[in-house]
Amino acid sequence: MKSVYEANDLPLVEEYDYIVIGGGTAGCPLAATLSEKYSVLLLERGNTPKAHPNVLSASKNMATLMEEDDGDTPAQRFTSEEGVENFRGRILGGTSMINGGFFSEADNDFLAKSGVEWDLGEVDKAYKWVRDSIVSYSNLSAWNSAVKEALLEAGIGPDNGATTKHKLGTKQSGSTFDDQGRRHGAVELLNNGDLKNLRIAIHASVKRIIFSTEYSNPAAIGVIYIDRKGRSHKAFVRNKGEVILSAGTLGSPQLLLLSGIGPQSYLSSQHIPLVHSQPNVGKFMADNPRNTINLIIPFPLQGSSGQIVGITNDYYIETFAYSLPFSPTKLPFGFYPRPLTPPQLSLGSIVEKVVGPLSTGTLWLASKTNVKATPHVQFNYFSNPIDLSRCVGAMSKFGELLKTKSLDGFKYVDLNGVRDFMFLGPPLPTNLSDDSSMEDYCRSSVTSFWHYHGGCLVGKVVDENFKVIGTDSLRVVDASTFVMSPGTNPQATLMMIGRYIGLKMLRERT
Ligand SMILES: Cc1cc2nc3c(=O)[nH]c(=O)nc-3n(C[C@H](O)[C@H](O)[C@H](O)COP(=O)(O)OP(=O)(O)OC[C@H]3O[C@@H](n4cnc5c(N)ncnc54)[C@H](O)[C@@H]3O)c2cc1C
Repeated sequence: MKSVYEANDLPLVEEYDYIVIGGGTAGCPLAATLSEKYSVLLLERGNTPKAHPNVLSASKNMATLMEEDDGDTPAQRFTSEEGVENFRGRILGGTSMINGGFFSEADNDFLAKSGVEWDLGEVDKAYKWVRDSIVSYSNLSAWNSAVKEALLEAGIGPDNGATTKHKLGTKQSGSTFDDQGRRHGAVELLNNGDLKNLRIAIHASVKRIIFSTEYSNPAAIGVIYIDRKGRSHKAFVRNKGEVILSAGTLGSPQLLLLSGIGPQSYLSSQHIPLVHSQPNVGKFMADNPRNTINLIIPFPLQGSSGQIVGITNDYYIETFAYSLPFSPTKLPFGFYPRPLTPPQLSLGSIVEKVVGPLSTGTLWLASKTNVKATPHVQFNYFSNPIDLSRCVGAMSKFGELLKTKSLDGFKYVDLNGVRDFMFLGPPLPTNLSDDSSMEDYCRSSVTSFWHYHGGCLVGKVVDENFKVIGTDSLRVVDASTFVMSPGTNPQATLMMIGRYIGLKMLRERT
C-alpha cells in the first residue's frame, strides 16, 4: 500500500484527524499509533531512507555525516554559537537514521524530574513495542569488549550483562543496528501503524501552524507547508483533531516562534504577529558536553559502533572504533607504527557524556521567512560549575582506563622500546590531579554528544500531557520537551514517548 508521497503530488488543501509535523524519532511512532484509529498526515521535510541508502548501513555512517550538504542530505550540519559542530536529521526517521544506533532506556532520575506523571506499566509496554520492532544485540567487537573490561577494571562495576535498562555499572546495550550492520530506525515503526490511515509527505517543509482565535485560547486548526517546487499547501485538522509538533529540538521551538507563540518582546522585535505570549519558547536549550580521547591503534581494527556503556551518577562512558584515511602529518614524532602503517588509520574513541547537563542557553531565529534556515542556538557549555566538575571526574577516569591491562595491547612501541598510547588530537593533561588544567582540557576539547534538547520544556511550554500551555489542540512531542537527557542515550525514550503519548491520546478520545 502506498503511504509515502512527494509533497508536490498532494492536493493544495486537505483535511485529516491529526497532523504530525516531523517524521523523526518521536514523530514516527506517534503517527503510527494515532493511525490505528484515525487519519494522520505526517509531514517530513527530508527524503526517504531508500533515496539515501548509506543511512541504512553502520559502516557507511561516517560517510553520511561527512557528506557535502546539498539541502537534501540526511545529516544537516549546524554550529552552535560557541563554535561546536553538530548535526540534525533531515530524512524520514529523523535523527534516528543518522545516529550511532545505541539504544538504552531512561534513568529513574529523568522519569522523576521530567514533569510528567508516568504510568510506569505503560512506559514499559511502550519501550517493549519499540524493542520488539527494531532493537538487536550483536556479539561485542574486539574493541568494545576490551573497553568493557577496562571499565570494569577501572571500577565502573558491576557487570550488568546485556540490557537496555539503565543500571549503574557497565553493560552491553541494545542497538538499532542488527548483527549484519543494517539500521532499523524510527522509520520502521511506521509499519506498526494502519497504513491505510497514514499519509506521509516527504519534502514537505512546514512553515507555520494555523490558529483559530474563535475561542478563549488560540486553537491549532492546521498547518501551511511548502513542497519542493515552493508551492504552498494547507492541511487542516477535523473537529477534535490536533496538530502535533515533533520537529526536534531545533525545529519545534523554531516553528512555535514562526507561528507567533513565544516571548512577546522577541516576536514583536521580529515583526511576527503574536498569537500567544509564551516567554519560555526557545529557552533552556541544553547539550551534554562530550570529551573524547582518540587512540590510534597499532594494527587494523574492525570498525564498530557503540555497544557498551559505563554508567555512573555523574557521567557515562561509551566507545566506538572506526577508520580514517592515513595522514602522516597528524602523527606525533617519536613514535612509529608497528607493523607497517596501514593506508587507513584505525581509531578507538572513548567518549564521555556529562549527565544532565545543568548548563542551559537559548535559541533564536536565523530567518523569519525561511524555515529551512537552522535557528541560532547557544548552549553555554560548562556555565554551571557542576557540569565542569563532572567532566573533570570523567577525564580522571579516562586516565585510569589508560592504565588498565585490558587496554595495554593497544599501545605503540617507540624506537627505544617504550610503550605508550598514540593520540589523535590532544592527549589528557599529564597531571590528572591538577583540577585547573583538567578544567581547561574539558573546556578546550568540548564537542557535542549530539543529545541536545530543550526549548519547549514540560512545565514551562507544554503541560504534563505535552499540550502547549495556553493553546488548544496543539502538542509538542520530541526532545525539545526534555529537562535533561534521558539515560545514556535518548532515542529509546523518544520512541517510547511517541508510542506512549499516541496511546494516551487514543484513550482520551474514546
Ligand atoms: C551523529 C549523532 C549520533 C547520535 N547517536 C545516538 C545514539 O547512538 N543513540 C541515541 O539514543 N541517540 C543518538 N543521537 C541522538 C538522537 O538521535 C536524537 O536525540 C533523537 O533522534 C532526536 O529525536 P527527535 O524526535 O527529537 O528529533 P528528530 O529525530 O531529529 O526528528 C525531527 C524531524 O522533524 C523534521 N523537521 C524539522 N523541521 C521540520 C519542518 N519545518 N517541516 C517538516 N519537518 C521538519 C526533521 O527533518 C526530522 O526528521 C545521536 C545524534 C546524532 C546527531
